[in-house]
This record gives sequence, C-alpha cells and structure tokens, in this order.
Amino acid sequence: MNPAIELRDVTKRFATPTGGVYTALRDLNLTVASGEFVAVIGPTGSGKSTTLGLISGLEPPSAGEVFIDGRPVDGVAQGIGYMFQTDAVFPWKTVLGNVAAGPRYHGASNGDARARARDWIARVGLAGFEDRYPHQLSGGMRKRVAMAQSLINGPAILLMDEPFSSLDVQTRSLMEDELLSLWASTSASVVFVTHDLEEAIALADRVVVLTAGPATIKGNYVVDLPRPRNVSEIRFEPRFGQIYREIWNDLRDEVLVSYERSRRPD
Ligand code: ADP
Repeated sequence: MNPAIELRDVTKRFATPTGGVYTALRDLNLTVASGEFVAVIGPTGSGKSTTLGLISGLEPPSAGEVFIDGRPVDGVAQGIGYMFQTDAVFPWKTVLGNVAAGPRYHGASNGDARARARDWIARVGLAGFEDRYPHQLSGGMRKRVAMAQSLINGPAILLMDEPFSSLDVQTRSLMEDELLSLWASTSASVVFVTHDLEEAIALADRVVVLTAGPATIKGNYVVDLPRPRNVSEIRFEPRFGQIYREIWNDLRDEVLVSYERSRRPD
C-alpha cells in the first residue's frame, strides 16, 4: 500500500529580499502512513510550515518529489483539510455559515451544506451556537468551529500548523482531547506541526524532529502510548517521561543552534 504522504529527497529554496537564496529544507525524506498521526517538531524557523506548504501543493519543491497516495503532487492537492494558528473564519458569517462554506464551495446544495454543518457543529460541542458570529465566541469555541470546518469535507489528510498555540493551557488540553476523539472517528492521516514537545508526544503516533534550518530529519520516534489518550493526564505516565527525555536529547541541540543564530546580528 502506498503511504498517504511521501516527501522524497525534497529541497526547498527561497529567494531572499537581498537577491540571495535561502535553503529552508534540504534532502528531506518523510513518509506518513494512511491513518497515522505524525507530529513534526523543530525550532522556530526550521521549516515546519514550509513542509506543510509542500504537502498541500501550495509550494512546489525546488528539488525532489512529493507524493500523495503514490501520485506526484502537481498543484494544490485535493482532499486536504487545514487548521492554522489563526482561525480562517469569515467574520461576517455565523457559525453555521462558516461551517457550511466548505461543502458549498465543493458544490453541495445550500440545504445539504447546512444540514451537514449542523451535524458537525453538534459533534464539536457547539449545538445552540449556530447563529453566533465569530466575535461572539471564546478562543476555544472558535477552535471548535475551525475543527468542524477542517473535518466537514472528510479530508484524507489533515495538515495542522500550531493550531492551539494561541489558547490558554487548560483550553488547549480540552481542544487536544477533542481533536483526538474527532480524529479517531475518521481515517485521516495527520501532520501536526508544533514547537511544543509535550503536545507532540501527547497527540502523535510518531514524532519527527527537524534540524535547525536548512531542515532535514534528525530523528523519528514512535510514541507507543496506548489510545484512547487523555491529554492532560498522559503526561504523568512514566513512559511519557522516558519518551520526552529521549526526544529532548535530540531536539535540545537544534534549539540551541537556532537560539545562537537568532542572537547573531545579520
Ligand atoms: P517554521 O514553521 O519551522 O517556524 P518556516 O517553514 O515558516 O519555519 O520557515 C523556514 C525558513 O524559510 C525561515 O527562515 C523562513 O524565513 C523561510 N521562509 C519561509 N517562507 C519563505 C518565503 N516565502 N520566502 C522566503 N523565505 C521563506
């Protein structure tokens, strides 16, 4: 069976404003199996978001190839859901309008889109809030809307870029639990980008550590903690601490490299 996602010897270079070239990713190899939840972790600026851009087809690689389900990615790939740090909501639309927008865009009738949106709004725990506008919701509620928006079209792949980093610690744990239980009811493969190692271990089947830029894979760690997981409690498991220490040994060096670079004047 083909992996859901494969990046083969991928390099990504960007033109810099001063006319130079910056290599963000170099010879990066990554595979994600169908239904697998992979967390990608690395220091800020290491190339995590760039990796998601390549998988989505929004950015072409400078060298190497990206495959979805064994097919080379050429342009924006279909069947992908996204969730970002900032919520992609229309401020002038209600919760119902925002969640129904995805199916409408994909050609569903208004009635069908609204019926499916109501179902997803209930599944993310927002029944009764269909007529609210985004500014009338808390940060956690807006994340629930974002989860409904990204899952309503039944994506085979879910790309998440630090989606919960703006939330307070308690709300964040609740949203992480919510994400895991929603994901368990789908067969989606997930790539979850974060710089928070605890979050990566609590959520993922596997944690991939990137080097400080140019990013390549520094390590791959299987998280053999049982599911279903309770995110706020799993941190107290002895095995969680062991995995944390093991990955941190790898990650620490990269964080230090990145920190030292950030202190150097350009
Ligand atoms: P991360 O998500 O790990 O914080 P990014 O993938 O956003 O890192 O960025 C990796 C590096 O590539 C950074 O140094 C960033 O400045 C650079 N970069 C990202 N996108 C562009 C772009 N469109 N043009 C130029 N440089 C970019």
